[in-house]
Amino acid sequence: MIIGLTGGIGSGKSVISNQLRQMGYSVYDTDSEAKRLIMEDVHVREQITDLFGPNVYKDGVYQTALVAKQVFADKSLLAQLNAIVHPAVKADILQRFTSPPFRGESEGGLFFIECAILYQAGLDQLCDKVVAVTAPEDIRLERVIARDQSDIHKVRARMRIQDTEQDIRRADIVINNDGGPPITTLCQEIVQKIKG
Ligand code: ADP
Repeated sequence: MIIGLTGGIGSGKSVISNQLRQMGYSVYDTDSEAKRLIMEDVHVREQITDLFGPNVYKDGVYQTALVAKQVFADKSLLAQLNAIVHPAVKADILQRFTSPPFRGESEGGLFFIECAILYQAGLDQLCDKVVAVTAPEDIRLERVIARDQSDIHKVRARMRIQDTEQDIRRADIVINNDGGPPITTLCQEIVQKIKG
C-alpha cells in the first residue's frame, strides 16, 4: 500500500518520516529526490536546459536562485517546470517502490511518500490513502523560524503559497502534531488508522 504524507511547512512531516523510517517503513522524500533528479536525470536536465537556457546548469550546478527568481515572476514558467519535474518524480517513485531495496522490505508492505504539495503535484493519484499532518499556524511559524533561521515574513510568504486547508479536507487521515503527544505515539496512530 502506498501512503501519502502531506502537510504545511513546519507541520512536522520530516520528523514523522524519520520516525517511520526507524519503525522500518520506507519513506520517499520527494523534496530531496526531486533535487537529485534535477541534477542527475539526463532527460530532466535536457528539458530544463531547453526551458531556461544553458546557464541554468552553470559549471554543472543547477542554479536554484536563478530559477526561483524567474518562476516567481512568471507563473506559466513555473507550470512548465512542474510539468517536467512532477512526472519524473512520479516515475521515480513507481520504479523505486517496485524494485529493490524498497520492494518487499518495508514494514507491513506500507510505503510512504512525503510531499508538501502531494495533491498539487498529482502524487495523490499514486496513493491508496493520504495522511495530512497539521499544527496550529503560530506553532508552525515558530518551528520554521527556529529550524531555518528565517524571519517571520519569509516564512509567512512560504506558507501562503500552500493551500494546506484544502489538503487537510481532502486527506483520509488527519494527524495533529501540536507538540502534545510524542512523535512515536503519532506514528503509531498513523499506522493504526491506515490499517483500520
Ligand atoms: P516539515 O517537514 O513539515 O516542514 P519538520 O518535520 O521539519 O516540518 O518540523 C519543523 C521543525 O519543528 C523541526 O525543527 C522539528 O524538529 C520541529 N518539530 C516538529 N514536530 C515537533 C514536535 N512535536 N515537538 C517539537 N518539535 C517539533
